[in-house]
Amino acid sequence: MIIPKANVLSAEQLAEVQAIVAEFGCQIGVIKGAHRSIYAILGDERKELMLSRLEGLSYVDRIDRIDSPFKLMDLRSGLADHDFAIGGITLGKGLLYIAGPCTVDPKEAQLTIETAHAVKAAGAHALRGGVWKPRTMPYSYQGEDAALEVLLEARAQTKLPLNVEVMDERQLAVAVDAKVDVIQIGTRNGLNYTLLKKIGECTANTSTAVLLKRSRHMGPIDEFIAAAEYIVAAGNPKIMLCPRGTLPGLDGYRNHPDESITPLLKEKTWAPVVYDPSHAVGRAQYVEQAALAAVAYGADGLNLEAHISPKRGIGDDPKQALNPTQLARLFKNGLKIYEILKGSVDDG
Ligand code: PEP
Ligand code: MN
Repeated sequence: MIIPKANVLSAEQLAEVQAIVAEFGCQIGVIKGAHRSIYAILGDERKELMLSRLEGLSYVDRIDRIDSPFKLMDLRSGLADHDFAIGGITLGKGLLYIAGPCTVDPKEAQLTIETAHAVKAAGAHALRGGVWKPRTMPYSYQGEDAALEVLLEARAQTKLPLNVEVMDERQLAVAVDAKVDVIQIGTRNGLNYTLLKKIGECTANTSTAVLLKRSRHMGPIDEFIAAAEYIVAAGNPKIMLCPRGTLPGLDGYRNHPDESITPLLKEKTWAPVVYDPSHAVGRAQYVEQAALAAVAYGADGLNLEAHISPKRGIGDDPKQALNPTQLARLFKNGLKIYEILKGSVDDG
């Protein structure tokens, strides 16, 4: 990691640095953070001659040799003091609430519009909604572009930023074109490295953030952080890690709830954790407890399924979506826990 004396390198300085590392078969990855840019040496950077030449440049403060598999996601990387906001909440400085229906049915647009107003009234800072759906059965409703139109109208009416999952490059192009505020990567694509890279590239230097769900098939936590590294290395540091339960499910729950990995993630990476209790437990009656546990574990936000009338929703809604009253109660209780913990940190 090259730490310049200024917050950014000029074009000439960057070109010089690139030329030096190219001689040694490496490249420079430039990530534009909110406060300064990060210059990662990509490739095998353990070459003393290369490092001493870089260290000798008048505009270079130092070279940080972070002994970590993650150059950018590591807590010690220069991105640790990077921050970004969604719906007026700066991640890590306030508790972010994202809520909305699992799946948007364009034939029932009014249900989504009403749901958007209801989640806003309950206290959500952003609206989620499924446009294209990764359904287990090929005969289930798969989603369609028309659902995005409904969500764009809901965003226009409520002014809530919009979180939408994409599963392929065509959907990504449509979502980026619509200036979707948060691109979600679902559990099934959490290990799709080609898509992760593409999403990082297509949202680099835009205001779009990325919410990466934990693949339900992932093993060690490092595998989750490495997936996020792909997105950040491709150019977008506005990333949220979203655990959502893993397989096999814990008896009685849809998945094995994994909110307890939050502090483990925070020991290794600066990235905010936005937990999804809805898919973790899969039953509306258990969602609040899992959500509050996540906040107690130090989560920076929650991604929840909610519907104005859960039984009329499609996809996962009938089983796991919260109604507006349940959502408002959860939001209130979540904030109480968040404030208590914040107070205890402030008290030392
Ligand atoms: C969803 O958010 O509706 C969804 C399909 O999530 P996951 O990828 O976590 O199953
Ligand atoms: Mn769902």
